[in-house]
Amino acid sequence: GNVDIECDMLVIGAGPGGYSAAFRAADLGMKTVIVERYATLGGVCLNVGCIPSKALLHNAAVIDEVAHMAKNGIKFGTPEVDIDALRGYKEQVINKLTGGLAGMAKMRKVEQVRGVGAFLDANHMEVQITSGTGKDLNGEKKVVKFKQAVIAAGSQAVKLPFIPNDPRIVDSTGALELKSVPKRMLIIGGGIIGLEMGTVYSTLGARLDVVELSDGLMQGADRDLVKVWQDWNAHRFDNIMLSSKTTSIVPKEDGIWVTFEGPKAPTEAQCYDLVLYSTGRSPNGKKVGAENAGVIVDERGFIAVDKQMRTNVPNIFAIGDLVGQPMLAHKAVHEAHVAAENAAGHKAYFDARVIPGVAYTDPEVAWVGLTEDQAKKDGIKITKGVFPWAASGRAIANGRTEGFTKLIFDAENGQILGGAIVGPHAGDMIGEICLGIEMGADAVDIGKTIHPHPTMGESIGMAAEVAKGVCT
Ligand code: FAD
Repeated sequence: GNVDIECDMLVIGAGPGGYSAAFRAADLGMKTVIVERYATLGGVCLNVGCIPSKALLHNAAVIDEVAHMAKNGIKFGTPEVDIDALRGYKEQVINKLTGGLAGMAKMRKVEQVRGVGAFLDANHMEVQITSGTGKDLNGEKKVVKFKQAVIAAGSQAVKLPFIPNDPRIVDSTGALELKSVPKRMLIIGGGIIGLEMGTVYSTLGARLDVVELSDGLMQGADRDLVKVWQDWNAHRFDNIMLSSKTTSIVPKEDGIWVTFEGPKAPTEAQCYDLVLYSTGRSPNGKKVGAENAGVIVDERGFIAVDKQMRTNVPNIFAIGDLVGQPMLAHKAVHEAHVAAENAAGHKAYFDARVIPGVAYTDPEVAWVGLTEDQAKKDGIKITKGVFPWAASGRAIANGRTEGFTKLIFDAENGQILGGAIVGPHAGDMIGEICLGIEMGADAVDIGKTIHPHPTMGESIGMAAEVAKGVCT
């Protein structure tokens, strides 16, 4: 058939996985094409995920922090929020980053083909060209012939079948549009994404309810950390319904009426101005015509890969959200480099010991590696070192002593296996623990590392000191 473009490397999807793979491949000398339906590079993370949520959370954190200043003798008064300007700020942040990516692509001569791609076979992809927002196909088609390919088509929010269509019922993308501030907001699914968005809306004035099927919010993190977050945030919520579910969701003129089932569920239907469903994301593996290339996709849409990020088809790699949990941008980026390096003929392996997770709430909750709850469940003998922030000079000076730093060591040899932090900027601190785990550090290494005083980072050294007394 007709071939419009030929390349060494074709990447489908321009999220953190896709652009990282494309850039690395180009840097290694491959002629690279990236197929993306939307006008901008950056995928979910930059356009409707990590970055816009953090732009809004930053503003929310400042509003909350300023409110705490009153007890120190500094009063700012009630903040006046211009929601259009706030939305504009968020857009600016996105544009700056996606613009930067476009520049980096150009510099590397990575060609973007804008459209919806589908494999024709293991060396050809047909792209239905898009225009406008990315939803409109303009009827034009292009065929790209490639030697190697990386599938990086990401994931999308799961919309459960019983959730009706209504502009007041949104997923995270809809919530990030920040059209208005509701009086009452329901969050269906109490994971990181739901609680981050809830933090933003609540700071802007919404009252929150959350309904969660499991028996706790922020699953994956140790319960002692979540408790600190929950105590600090109790004022935002009217009702936290755990081990609960919605039984009906009915849009009416005056609001969205929802009924629930569960131990703390109200018997009466509740009325909300905004309902956010954040019950997980499903991989886009089935949306790229992978079967035409012979790539095996499981029934949920995940694509299996080996440690080189290679699918069952030798010249086709897959990375990011569609190869499995955790669905996080930093995982996608590292997988991308491995895939591109292998495609370019180098030998590389995705061999991370640990991948950190962070809830950018206030306080932040961050954890990596073995958790205490998991160790208990699996009967792993650990020694833990906990340093409460109430004993940190810096935390006291900052007026934020609710947090703590916890390190988990192998009880036998003192090697660090995991760590978790709850408190402001926990996400910025967790990287040190990741490094410690990757380097095989033990409690003595960490305890004897001199941390600057007074910082919250010191709490990591102190937690190791606490544990060291037991391990050495
Ligand atoms: P994606 O970013 O999903 O990109 C895939 C791209 O492929 C999309 O642009 C899509 O348009 C394109 N595409 C799909 N199919 C086709 C096709 N057939 N043709 C052409 N193009 C196609 N992660 C973090 O690490 N930290 C955070 O703070 C964080 N916050 C988040 C907040 C929210 C609200 C959400 C929703 C997610 C957040 N995540 C966060 C997760 C993070 O966004 C994802 O893990 C990351 O974007 C995955 O990258 P990816 O490269 O796999 O794919």
